[in-house]
Amino acid sequence: MRLLEKLVKWKCCFTTKNIAIISSTLAVLIITSIALFTYQLSNLTTTDNNNSLSSPLESAQESSRKTFSVDSSMQPQVSETISDIPITSTDAQTLTETETSKVQPCHHNYRNEVVPPTCSEQGYTIHTCQNCGYQYIDCYAAPQHDYGKYLCINCGMPDPSADPFYALNAWMAKNVPYNEEIQGYEWIYQVGDEKYIISTLGGGDAIVLQYCFGDEDLDLYFSASDFLDTYYSKGEEGGRYLMDKSDLIVPSKPLFDKDFAYMSQEFVEQYSKRIDDTINVAQNQMLSTIGMNLKSFGFPSL
Ligand SMILES: [Zn+2]
Ligand SMILES: [Zn+2]
Repeated sequence: MRLLEKLVKWKCCFTTKNIAIISSTLAVLIITSIALFTYQLSNLTTTDNNNSLSSPLESAQESSRKTFSVDSSMQPQVSETISDIPITSTDAQTLTETETSKVQPCHHNYRNEVVPPTCSEQGYTIHTCQNCGYQYIDCYAAPQHDYGKYLCINCGMPDPSADPFYALNAWMAKNVPYNEEIQGYEWIYQVGDEKYIISTLGGGDAIVLQYCFGDEDLDLYFSASDFLDTYYSKGEEGGRYLMDKSDLIVPSKPLFDKDFAYMSQEFVEQYSKRIDDTINVAQNQMLSTIGMNLKSFGFPSL
């Protein structure tokens, strides 16, 4: 009896309603399982896809960096911006193409080469862009001697800031012959048979400007002191005039308008003319060619 009741109860459970509920539950379970399985499968596929995408993306990003790495010092903002933006491979490609085709203005990175001046040529600085080769030149410097003790160590010209007596002597020691008779160097400037001579005596302590031709002779002797000693002879006549260096002027005639009773008027005029001529030649034909002048030897009026 009990068994029968149980069977009846069990049968009652298999009503149409119950079967529908069970089957829909099963269906939901199956669908859910399938869905879960598909989801996992799809995840796996995506990871694979990402892995396979990463290389071209990275290489694209790298190539875009490479494009800029040439000028990395010049374009820091652009380089950073690009690596920060999450770019798709297509974007990267487009970007790279644009960068390559667009001409970027060069942010010049200059290397400077200083060309120093020489005795005769001016110096300058050449600026060359390391990136594009653009060049420009500036900082021009006037020609310049490189002086040693008395002379330029390159061309041998006397140093105008050195003691003029020793500078001239140093120049003459290198450029003109030594005369045993006068114990000094002798620089001769000859015009026909007329001789204009600059001699340095006593190792440069004193200088003699000389003119000689035929029976005519003029000596202008001076040192660093304030005096100029002059001797002049022509034919039978001779004379001497000692003066202050600062009194020497050209023309020198007024200097002889004092009391020179023992000299003839004609002789005084020749004396004066020869001084003017000798000063003129020594100054303009000789000393000026080596950048010197008599003023620097203590003649303020010359
Ligand atoms: Zn440049
Ligand atoms: Zn020089």
